[in-house]
Amino acid sequence: MSKTFAEVWDNCLKFIRDNVSPQSFKTWFEPIKPLKLDSGVLTIQVPTQFFYEWLEEHYITLLKSAIRKELGAEGKLVYSIIMDNNHAASKQPYSTKIPATDKKAVLNPSVNAPMDIGNKAIKNPFVIPGLKKINIESNLNPYYTFENFVEGECNRLARSAGYAVSKKPGGTSFNPLLIYGGTGLGKTHLANAIGVEIKKNFPNLTVLYINSERFTAQFIDAVKNNSTNDFVNFYQLVDVFIVDDVQFFAGKEKTQDVFFHIFNHLHQNGKQIILTSDKPPVEILGMEQRLLSRFKWGLSADLQVPELETRIAILKMKVFKDGIDLPDDVLEHLAYSITSNVRELEGALISLLAQASLNKKEITLDLARKMIDKFVKNTQREISIEYIQKVVCDYFKLNMDLMKSKTRKREVVQARQIAMYFAKGYTKASLATIGAHCGGKDHATVLHACKTVNNLMETDKRFKSYVDELEKKINLNA
Ligand code: ADP
Ligand code: MG
Repeated sequence: MSKTFAEVWDNCLKFIRDNVSPQSFKTWFEPIKPLKLDSGVLTIQVPTQFFYEWLEEHYITLLKSAIRKELGAEGKLVYSIIMDNNHAASKQPYSTKIPATDKKAVLNPSVNAPMDIGNKAIKNPFVIPGLKKINIESNLNPYYTFENFVEGECNRLARSAGYAVSKKPGGTSFNPLLIYGGTGLGKTHLANAIGVEIKKNFPNLTVLYINSERFTAQFIDAVKNNSTNDFVNFYQLVDVFIVDDVQFFAGKEKTQDVFFHIFNHLHQNGKQIILTSDKPPVEILGMEQRLLSRFKWGLSADLQVPELETRIAILKMKVFKDGIDLPDDVLEHLAYSITSNVRELEGALISLLAQASLNKKEITLDLARKMIDKFVKNTQREISIEYIQKVVCDYFKLNMDLMKSKTRKREVVQARQIAMYFAKGYTKASLATIGAHCGGKDHATVLHACKTVNNLMETDKRFKSYVDELEKKINLNA
């Protein structure tokens, strides 16, 4: 007797559960509902377009294996995306076909995402006369919420302004709200969180998150397809417009023009605009003045590098969410060591967990120290000329004084050249500075040394093996 769709999906889930973290399972697989099984094709229902894209991007291999195990090599998976309570549309992996439309909605842009703007068969997929409420997929990342965004001195203003906006979109003086700050400091997360919160508070508002690069690409497509009007009309329909990384608009005049247009329309109609940028507006070069001055109409709030307590709090929140138990001293050491930004901090945590589970070791402070020190070194290597000279001298059993002297003894000259070569590759020092450290040579001598080392490496195997070995030592102890 063949299995029912529920049984098939149940078995798939068992397999998936063994292969993903509990958190991922909960977030991405529990919400899925199996719908039917028809000659080897299993249909599953997913909550949103974003959800579908996420599964396709991150879990397709796993899903494929699960389906193959259950249904054999011929087995297929079809997604059905919930659009609202009444209608659903299907999406097959890898199929770009526009799904059959529903009588009532005529066309549903949630499946027909803005990227499809150029589709010739449908002149204007977004504006449907007489249809009151449109359903646009917001593209929000459901994980990036306020709840998951740790508050600290570093983000206090931006976070509270964002929160205020989410309570009264379009109704505060924070319009536009521009969030700026360096990479990995939480701009995308916070901008998303505002969108997610608005969707929660005002389910009827149309929220749209888009990255400026994707916006630009869509616009270019629209120009190609003679459908810029559709493009503009579409964006003018949204109630909350979130544009991430607007600095990428720099130098793109046509895109800035169309964005200016949309911005004005939305702003005049009391719609909320949320922007992020990696620098303050004044520092964005190649941006039209009239746009820059619009950006300043509302509030610009920055995100700073988180201070130690916030870094600890972020780590605690992450391990708690993932259901992992890590000693406090380990977390604190991690927070002490990684100071650049939150993304790096997360990266170090993930790498620590991964290594520990690979080696089947418990994470003690000692183990954490070793791993983190390595991680820090790989990401923020700071090597000095002196240090390089010392490694080279040790290797050739030379006295450091000789290295720094003017002597032209052959063995010293070669060691010195190698030190210069590494100093140029590994430090930010100028040629003149390197020369000064190596027996008071000028920049031309340093340049010549680098060329000589390169040449010798190409022609002399033994010499190359010295240099390679030295390079390893430099990296090892750095
Ligand atoms: P940006 O867009 O500024 O480059 P992201 O928003 O992508 O940075 O953030 C990088 C990572 O750091 C994300 O995984 C995000 O969830 C996390 N992160 C940043 N700030 C915080 C915070 N205050 N609390 C929790 N996680 C954060
Ligand atoms: Mg970002």
